[in-house]
Amino acid sequence: MSGASSDRRIPSADGQEAELHAGMHREEAGFADPGTGLPRQETGIAEREHFAETIVDPQRMEIFIEAMTPPGPDYLRRLEEEAIADRVPIIRPQTRNLIRFFIKLKKPMRILEVGTAVGFSALFMQYYAPAGCRIVTIEKDPARAAAARENIARFGNCLEAAEDSSRDAAGGENTARFGSAIDVLEGDAAEVLREIREDASFDMVFMDAAKGQYIRFLPEVLRLLRAGGILITDNILQEGDVLSSRFAVTRRNRTIHSRMREYVRALAEEPSLETLLLPTGDGAAVCLRQSGT
Ligand code: SAM
Repeated sequence: MSGASSDRRIPSADGQEAELHAGMHREEAGFADPGTGLPRQETGIAEREHFAETIVDPQRMEIFIEAMTPPGPDYLRRLEEEAIADRVPIIRPQTRNLIRFFIKLKKPMRILEVGTAVGFSALFMQYYAPAGCRIVTIEKDPARAAAARENIARFGNCLEAAEDSSRDAAGGENTARFGSAIDVLEGDAAEVLREIREDASFDMVFMDAAKGQYIRFLPEVLRLLRAGGILITDNILQEGDVLSSRFAVTRRNRTIHSRMREYVRALAEEPSLETLLLPTGDGAAVCLRQSGT
């Protein structure tokens, strides 16, 4: 027996491992497909059916991953509950896992976020970031920016420790520049990003704002992200719309569909980035800014 699928093993219903026999599928593929009259082999249907059998339902996957995720601190859970009750969008658990992983891997000392909402993700990132990390986050909506500042102040006890260690680690310089561990900049990111003058000063950027605008933000983000830094972009799949032809999405969503595709293509083709596209959450792109480009 040969073929890639001959040695794939999946757990059977009774918990024992069962072997997927490529030969069995080939045999089935010998029958004609009623739709086309062609041997199923030639239509690729058997291969697709075989593939479909191995696809995991994304909802079950999400529930499983959530169940396996250690709970964060109480204050973040409280803030999450409030955001959900107020219908404020915040990062999903799978995206949180991704961000937490890269924060622990890269230990960023400066993080830039585009799209604060009420500060959940900024506080989440701060919790896992090393002491002394500074976070700059941009929010267009004045009410949300105010709510974010309030939440950041509310959890002052948690922030104080970070503030003190940040002064030790940064020798006061960063503290003088930003004034607090998380700095909320209010305004349209297209303008605010241009006003941040410290080129190549951020170790990590998290894009989570108006999805249709990412392509506009990209040149400034690339200017601000240092070599070796990570850019994480959330919601690149737009609930799956981005995978479909533009004619299959509703007219209302076509602009965002084409702009998101343009953005993802720009990430993939940008020579200074190594880009990984993941089906995590609503789709995420993780880009490594390479040195020497
Ligand atoms: N990152 C947040 C979290 O997980 O807690 C959620 C951010 S929410 C998905 C997106 C936010 O981006 C909204 O609060 C929206 O007002 C803001 N936004 C949209 N367009 C923006 C822009 N051009 N500049 C800055 N913020 C923007």
